[in-house]
Amino acid sequence: MYDVVIVGGGPAGLTAAIYTGRARLKTLVLEAAIIGGNAARTDQIDNYPGFPFGINGADLMDSFCKQAERFGAEIRMEEVLEIEHSPEGKKVITNEGEYRARAIIIAVGARRRELEVDGEQVFLGRGVSYCATCDGAFFHGVPVAVVGGGDSAVKEALYLADIASRVYLIHRREEFRANQTAVEKMLADERIELKLNKVVKRVEGDALMNRLILQDVHSGAEEILAVEGLFVSIGLVSGADFSENMVDTEDGYIITGEKMNTSTTGIFAAGDVRLKKERQVATAVGDGALAGIAVTEYLKE
Ligand SMILES: Cc1cc2nc3c(=O)[nH]c(=O)nc-3n(C[C@H](O)[C@H](O)[C@H](O)COP(=O)(O)OP(=O)(O)OC[C@H]3O[C@@H](n4cnc5c(N)ncnc54)[C@H](O)[C@@H]3O)c2cc1C
Repeated sequence: MYDVVIVGGGPAGLTAAIYTGRARLKTLVLEAAIIGGNAARTDQIDNYPGFPFGINGADLMDSFCKQAERFGAEIRMEEVLEIEHSPEGKKVITNEGEYRARAIIIAVGARRRELEVDGEQVFLGRGVSYCATCDGAFFHGVPVAVVGGGDSAVKEALYLADIASRVYLIHRREEFRANQTAVEKMLADERIELKLNKVVKRVEGDALMNRLILQDVHSGAEEILAVEGLFVSIGLVSGADFSENMVDTEDGYIITGEKMNTSTTGIFAAGDVRLKKERQVATAVGDGALAGIAVTEYLKE
């Protein structure tokens, strides 16, 4: 029996663990894939306070993890498949076992949205990727494309420009949602070529992908773009599928109160998985701290 089981070991989950561990609650963090979540997959984080020259995401998350462990949090690499909630208590079921908990914090973040075009899944891992920091190194000296117009897409394009022979940024509009500093940096980078008002219609290749079929959103005209990699960065979808019917959600994102409480007593949520506007490391950390404090108060009551 744990006082609190935290599902997800990203910035939100690890911060919550620092707070609950420090409050001497018996804390377990369950992480399915990579400690540090999306932040650990990010090459350079420039907007997290305390690091005037930026910091590598994996290094930052390694510090979060060590800090949580220093306060006694236990971290296990297991995927949570289901949460059961009954008057007798709460049970977390993973791919490896079951844990009982007095309280649960869901901090599973969000994952990349798929393009849902022909060939995308066929060439997944054979040219198609959702993470430049994870897979960019495989594309040394060859042309690649990034799809998207937000902060992540611009960041991925800049990151890949140092690796690939050429980077094409495909965006369905002319304006970018990304922050202006990053956009200006990208526009000034001659290694990045913009393909505006275009969408990816198909991913094609042989054993590996080797071309994209693009379509102009206005004229409908198609063109072939010869690239060996496609990095999809068109937004996020909630990672909270397993908690459906357990807590109230909107568009898959968990609805919380100010104290990160959900519609179910004793179940809290923090970070990108929450229904909210801004999804950043700093906001995930704030949510994690609030959830950790709220769980501590809840268990005292
Ligand atoms: C390419 C990219 C660049 C970014 N750059 C920046 C930046 O420069 N600055 C910034 O502030 N933010 C940036 N962000 C956003 C930032 O990474 C996120 O807002 C932050 O990581 C959210 O933290 P989180 O803990 O809520 O979720 P996540 O980081 O998504 O962590 C959730 C964790 O839960 C795990 N998980 C999911 N489902 C389960 C399950 N069923 N069982 C167990 N574990 C599970 C996941 O594996 C993951 O590790 C970037 C994001 C991306 C994708």
